[in-house]
Amino acid sequence: ASAVEIRKVNKYYGPFHALKDVDLSIPPGKVTCLIGPSGSGKSTLLRCINFLEEYDSGEIRIDGQLIGYETPGRKMSGRKLREMRRSIGMVFQQFNLWPHMTAKENVAEGLIRVRGLSKAEAETRAAEALTKVGLADKMENHPSRMSGGQQQRVAIARAIAMEPRLMLFDEPTSALDPELVGEVLNVMKTLASEGMTMVVVTHEMGFAAHVADQVAFMEKGELVAVDSPQGIFHAP
Ligand code: ADP
Ligand code: ADP
Repeated sequence: ASAVEIRKVNKYYGPFHALKDVDLSIPPGKVTCLIGPSGSGKSTLLRCINFLEEYDSGEIRIDGQLIGYETPGRKMSGRKLREMRRSIGMVFQQFNLWPHMTAKENVAEGLIRVRGLSKAEAETRAAEALTKVGLADKMENHPSRMSGGQQQRVAIARAIAMEPRLMLFDEPTSALDPELVGEVLNVMKTLASEGMTMVVVTHEMGFAAHVADQVAFMEKGELVAVDSPQGIFHAP
């Protein structure tokens, strides 16, 4: 079964038709890259997956369960939606870290507030997540003392510490200086090799070509091609 099943999804911003009958299956344990020109609807589609954007018709199922709606057209409660979102990690272009907290506190905060862990348990798990993204020696630093690449790795650690079943990345390297892009892509590559289900909106064609299992190409709100990287990048 698919980790995420997107069926005939349409999304309008007022009169503007932003997603047009989008169909896409996200296989579990694989990396799907969403590519295409700016304004083609990639970010909108990604945000529909965790219902940060409401879609207007069609269905999106996470592990078989409809997200955002109880039944087509009838919205689910905020509580149910929050519960579903707990299994979905999201990393944005902007890192959105709390400036007054250390890296470790940034990662631990959600574990305390959302998962109800004690401060000690949360900090142990935060330390593990930060070690995994290569920041064992930066745990006590505040974001202002870290590079953009390090801050984005803290944001990834914050998401994976929650043990998500699915990770969504929205142009995670677009705000970074070019020399810092690789360290973030490498962390994502490690997650991929461990079997994390990932959907990644990116302009990094090297990453899409070499790390993705599936590439979906969008244009003007339509998914115009879905194929292996070989099929997308080396089509005859
Ligand atoms: P991409 O991620 O491919 O660059 P987006 O999903 O961000 O594209 O945007 C797709 C289209 O929808 C663009 O034309 C954009 O201007 C429009 N759009 C995105 N968000 C909004 C919004 N909140 N209100 C109105 N139009 C929007
Ligand atoms: P771009 O061409 O977009 O600048 P890169 O080619 O530098 O991107 O690669 C981006 C990511 O893909 C990096 O994480 C890199 O490690 C990985 N990558 C690049 N080439 C290969 C390859 N041949 N095999 C596996 N991974 C690769």
